[in-house]
Amino acid sequence: MSEVPAPREAAPAADKLVVLDNVNKHFGALHVLQDIDLTIARGEVVVVIGPSGSGKSTLCRTINRLETVDSGSISIDGKPLPQEGKPLAKLRADVGMVFQAFNLFAHKTVLENVMLGQTKVRRTDKQAAEKKARALLDRVGVGNQADKYPAQLSGGQQQRVAIARALAMDPKVMLFDEPTSALDPEMINEVLEVMKQLADEGMTMVVVTHEMGFARSAANRVVFMSDGRIVEEATPDQFFNNPRSDRAKDFLAKIL
Ligand code: ADP
Ligand code: MG
Repeated sequence: MSEVPAPREAAPAADKLVVLDNVNKHFGALHVLQDIDLTIARGEVVVVIGPSGSGKSTLCRTINRLETVDSGSISIDGKPLPQEGKPLAKLRADVGMVFQAFNLFAHKTVLENVMLGQTKVRRTDKQAAEKKARALLDRVGVGNQADKYPAQLSGGQQQRVAIARALAMDPKVMLFDEPTSALDPEMINEVLEVMKQLADEGMTMVVVTHEMGFARSAANRVVFMSDGRIVEEATPDQFFNNPRSDRAKDFLAKIL
């Protein structure tokens, strides 16, 4: 059994967009993140997979400081995560997040959902914010839904609006935490296609997903987590065809 991550070529310092250095976190007695070292280069697409409860969501949430860490450090674009206030709001804009549940504002229209962060956090004027929101809604294929309320849209449409809303902030990196897990099967692909397009356009992305087709076609690297640790890191080809750790082999045997 080999559980040591394979050596990778180090990204040049300027290209290290997200760096987690020896991060540890507990929930009470549970050591949910254990000695996490993870560097994500600008433009890289990293797919995080692993059994339920292995710490994938917590890992994502620490990157935009929805969770604090007990030790270790996290930096984005060379700067440590801010603690609070306006710098923290800006961080959350720089680090776009799309969750399993769509998390749109129910009492705002689709268009307003995509405009809000722009006007409040980025201080974009209303006209420019609307123009950008409409362009992004077009880009994710829901331009004709702009004046509806979230509940009037399908799950797949809502999730694409959530992606547009995050993109409206011009994020440096996008985090996706099981973005298709709550969708009816026929809607999964329309969301994955938008994500694949983003990846092809060079967006830096961290994607927690069980969609192995997406991992194979879009990921530069697969990170496999188990029990709060990164057990294995590899290219999708290496990981799916030749997993090294027993835990990864067991996991793949169950899901493939
Ligand atoms: P995953 O996304 O891989 O399923 P999570 O990061 O959601 O894993 O959870 C990892 C572990 O941490 C699980 O055992 C979960 O029950 C626990 N956990 C997650 N969030 C909290 C919390 N806010 N308080 C206490 N335990 C939590
Ligand atoms: Mg999770």
